[in-house]
Amino acid sequence: MSLRPAFLSSTRILAIATATLISLIAGVSAFAQASEQTGTASPPWMDRALSPDRRADLVVGQMTQQEKITMVHGIGWGVLRKGSAVPPGDVGGAGFVPGVPRLGIPPLNLADSAVGVRMAGFYGRYATLLPSTLGAASSWDPDSAQLYGSVIGRELRDEGFNMSIGGGVDLTREPRNGRNFEYAGEDPLLAGTMTGNLMRGLQAQQIMGDIKHFAMNDQETGRNILNAVISEKAMRESDLLAFQISIGIADPSAVMCAYNKVNGDWSCENDYLLNQVLKHDFAFKGWVMSDWGGTHTTVKAALAGLDQEQPGDKYFGAPLAEAITAGKVPQSRLDDMVHRILRSMFAAGVIDNPPVPSVPDPFRGRDEAQRIEEESLVVLRNEGSILPLSNSAKRIALIGGHADVGVLSGGGSAQVDAPGGNAIGLHTGPRVWCEPVYFPSSPLREIRSLASGGNVTYDPGTDPAKAAAAAQNADVVFLFATQHMCESRDAATLALPDNQDALIEAVAKANPNTVVVLETGGPVSMPWHNQVKGIIEAWYPGIGGAQALAAVLFGRVNPSGKLSITFPASDQDLPHPHIAGLTPEAVGKAGAANGSGAATDPFEVDYTEGARVGYKWFESENKTPLYPFGYGLSYTSFAYSDLKLDPANKVASFTIRNTGSRAGVEIAQVYAALPASAGEHYMRLVGWARANLAPGESKQVSVNMNPLTLSVFNTAEHRFEMPKGEYRIEVGTSSSQILLQGTMTH
Ligand code: BGC
Repeated sequence: MSLRPAFLSSTRILAIATATLISLIAGVSAFAQASEQTGTASPPWMDRALSPDRRADLVVGQMTQQEKITMVHGIGWGVLRKGSAVPPGDVGGAGFVPGVPRLGIPPLNLADSAVGVRMAGFYGRYATLLPSTLGAASSWDPDSAQLYGSVIGRELRDEGFNMSIGGGVDLTREPRNGRNFEYAGEDPLLAGTMTGNLMRGLQAQQIMGDIKHFAMNDQETGRNILNAVISEKAMRESDLLAFQISIGIADPSAVMCAYNKVNGDWSCENDYLLNQVLKHDFAFKGWVMSDWGGTHTTVKAALAGLDQEQPGDKYFGAPLAEAITAGKVPQSRLDDMVHRILRSMFAAGVIDNPPVPSVPDPFRGRDEAQRIEEESLVVLRNEGSILPLSNSAKRIALIGGHADVGVLSGGGSAQVDAPGGNAIGLHTGPRVWCEPVYFPSSPLREIRSLASGGNVTYDPGTDPAKAAAAAQNADVVFLFATQHMCESRDAATLALPDNQDALIEAVAKANPNTVVVLETGGPVSMPWHNQVKGIIEAWYPGIGGAQALAAVLFGRVNPSGKLSITFPASDQDLPHPHIAGLTPEAVGKAGAANGSGAATDPFEVDYTEGARVGYKWFESENKTPLYPFGYGLSYTSFAYSDLKLDPANKVASFTIRNTGSRAGVEIAQVYAALPASAGEHYMRLVGWARANLAPGESKQVSVNMNPLTLSVFNTAEHRFEMPKGEYRIEVGTSSSQILLQGTMTH
């Protein structure tokens, strides 16, 4: 196979188009060859009436040993690293695995796509930036999650990719984790349900999906050198439960194992995680691929259940072939690896219906991104009903956060390329890892367009005194505060960076009618929260972000989002007030925090809080968070009544009434405290309902309580079980505002 170096070709677009064409033609002629061999119109594995497993077996039976070995590793760093080879047929994603043209098996073209398709700009393509998945989880809307996945799946297809390697579901155990924005919050049921539905929506576009990073990749600091220590029971009831739920919903093609060690073994050679939990207990049928550079051995990893090394062939290339010849890895294990890959390709439809490159629809993508963000924004404070903005607010001052030009996005392998380049125009040329990228969805423009006749001004907020002066005579001030987060490094503290607390205090002093709009990767502390009238968490809002925000500010959309994570008051209240392994020298440095800079020796993170992640920790430790999990305000109000519990079917039914004067959506949450015999003294989310209600309307809703969340993990029996006894069931508008209570006996 001829390889060409990345970044060198001036005719890259032409090359890629030609390569794609060649591979399509190769696929067609391969079928012809295969048909000739079998004497049929098309090879037997192309019979769609057969199961994906049977079809995969038929292909495996035809493959040479070299073809099998080629399928279980990538081709190197490809477009990710300057100077790495890029083979024909590689459409420029994070990973590429050649196909078997003579058998009509296409290559795997893998794209990072946590919040939209990454690397689109590399070949001059467009990709929609969606709100952060953490934000989208705050909609608590599985339909919205499916829409989210469908946008990514559709655009991957348009760009010639056949697989997404997004799907992050690591729990927000560490609220300062640099990747929280690409995960789905702190609760296993919410995170698992939202991520599972996202992947289901994506796979419905006939694109292969992935769930990652398995497991306990809960902080970025030292992710390549740390050993996460946690009891089996706690892990099954927290982080692994989120994976179990999402995998159960999505049936994804692949699971990506993590960089870190878990209880002494690297995740990608961890027999407990891969063989015992994932493949046996979760009955996962797809394949396990390593995170990029996350493979450490050949024999141990292969026997522990790793199916594919990424991105190169250091362990699963020639060394794997040799290990098989030497009898150290059975041939059946290699055949199983290949079978898992092929059966997932057949099941997803990428062999029957390979992607045909096309032009993504940016307008549709933007509208859908806006719709998702409208459900994801969370109003945290609204004193004196400063929102929605009244018509008398004529002088509106915007301050900070580059709100004149755009909205912030998260960095790292989830970074999507901004159309027209970074809206704050740092420089031209290739993107720099972890630089803040703004997307051209301008709050100033959208607020101006809705503030009919109003005078809307903008001050950059770089000088608190000037900002205060700009705020002084306004009827209302919208102050945009940002926290840029990026893969490979964590925030050292929960505090907003760049002295923005002082800016907010100065502006709030000058004008109490201040509304703070947060664009953050996760929770931040807010020492000024009592000094402002309004606070909105907009997350990383996506390409329709400014439109969604303006719609909420002016009351065209009634906000309904509720926090998918706890907002702690301070770092001191966390299970780990200081991030393990984060040395002063490593703060803010990607390489050092990553381990590759060798700033620290291997270390342990002892997760002594166990399964008490987020609100469970706060409740059991009697700590009051700044804003609790599940919290969010609406422009209307709701009343709850008539709780009925059906212990046989595990259903909670109750009535919600819209007691205000606007239509609105309420997210009603059901929590349970297990019988005392469980020995777990904290409430856990067991289900929820979204009710869309007109003013004065009442609805009876029924919530199916997820049995896994009503259970404890019995390590001796290796299964979840519901303890016998009395369960206290609480229904509320957030984890700490409980409105109805009842008990049920099991
Ligand atoms: C990240 C993965 C990503 C991969 C390929 C790794 O550093 O942890 O999430 O998919 O790179 O870009």
